[in-house]
Amino acid sequence: MAAPAAELKPVVKFLKRHADGRPYLEGHKCEACGTVFIGERSVCSKCFARDRIRAVELPNRGTLYAYSIIHRSYPGVEVPFVSAVVDVEGGGTLKGNLMGVKPDPKTIEMGMPVEIVYGDAGRTDAEGHHYLAYFFKPAAR
Ligand SMILES: [Zn+2]
Repeated sequence: MAAPAAELKPVVKFLKRHADGRPYLEGHKCEACGTVFIGERSVCSKCFARDRIRAVELPNRGTLYAYSIIHRSYPGVEVPFVSAVVDVEGGGTLKGNLMGVKPDPKTIEMGMPVEIVYGDAGRTDAEGHHYLAYFFKPAAR
């Protein structure tokens, strides 16, 4: 049985929670040029502004930039699945799994809108901890 979402440990540092427990992805935005990055930094790699980066909540929307259909993986990982690269609306790029589609190129379209959703990563570590992960799923146009 999956642990309640509020008890799950985030699988990556940039997956955060609001005070009420709702998960969100955190980006970092340069106040000088507006570029959004995933992961903390003190210098903007686009305009080189220093100490003008602030944390922002990323929107749960993006577009599919690239994908691979994975047919071989580690023992215990169900295949095939779709590994995707998504451009987040407003900036930033994420890698993750595209769910809710048949792993078939006929059903996946480059540039298709996706929604970022959250849930149990589906696996546990050696101590039995469950993890909170983010996933992509097709969104309405
Ligand atoms: Zn900048």
